[in-house]
Amino acid sequence: MYFNEQTTIYLNGEFVKATKATTDLYGQTLHYGYGVFEGIRAYNTENGVRVFKATEHYERLKNSCQMINIPFDYDIDDLIEQTYKVLEVNNFKDAYVRPLIFCSPNMGLTKPNGVSILICAWEWGAYLGDNLLNVTISSFCRPHPKSTKIEAKVCGHYINSILATTEAKEKGFDEAILLDTDGFLAEGPGSNLFFEKGGKLFTPKTGNILPGITRATVIKLCQDLEIELTEGAFLPEDLANADAAFLCGTAAEIIGLQSFEKKSFPKNWNETLGKKLQTAYKNLVLEKELQETN
Ligand code: PMP
Repeated sequence: MYFNEQTTIYLNGEFVKATKATTDLYGQTLHYGYGVFEGIRAYNTENGVRVFKATEHYERLKNSCQMINIPFDYDIDDLIEQTYKVLEVNNFKDAYVRPLIFCSPNMGLTKPNGVSILICAWEWGAYLGDNLLNVTISSFCRPHPKSTKIEAKVCGHYINSILATTEAKEKGFDEAILLDTDGFLAEGPGSNLFFEKGGKLFTPKTGNILPGITRATVIKLCQDLEIELTEGAFLPEDLANADAAFLCGTAAEIIGLQSFEKKSFPKNWNETLGKKLQTAYKNLVLEKELQETN
């Protein structure tokens, strides 16, 4: 699904076939999850293939590296150029791009001996589907911000996300909502959370979450659309009493929630601020003029 005999990837300055590329088995990323990655989307816009927020994603890749002491000796403009080439050689128009920085052989719990960069891509539909989601609070909370660099997109952090997603699905839900270690609403396993109450929007503040690039885009769209937004510390009850809610992320884009702990949100999704933002977001990524959605 992610690659076949024809797929070409970018690996340390070269374009190689995914099936021919090799790596070592003694790296710190494979053994300890000590690596960083990004998730970016490319869209087939009216102006051609466009990588959405490419600079922001590669800046975050760089910051993630710096936060966890992985050297980042790459030029961001060059990485963006290589990303477009990966899309072009594979003839991808709408695709998900995955840059990964992984560490060389080193069994020590020490700084990396060396790093590699991989940029691969594949055609991927909406990560959480197009239907409204039924969500539940996870028994797993987000890692404590003092136990790791929570704002870095670190490979190993995703064990937390996998555990939460697996648990939610095994309980019959579509997705998990994770709390922070103080019991406040944090985020989804791979997305940020917003909810609507009384015509206003609310989202967990930064500090215990991955500050998503889509979250930042939604915040900007709220300003453009004059939607009142509050960032703060919210409890599960706040979500339970909300009129509507949605998750957002590069892979998930903007996806509405049907229910929380099996209780449906009262507002019809099509009449929510989330729906309005979803439309505006689609227009933005496709480089269409912002349309009035009222
Ligand atoms: N939170 C987590 C834990 C994530 O993995 C992601 C996906 N990168 C997000 C939020 C959303 O971030 P973005 O909008 O930058 O994709």
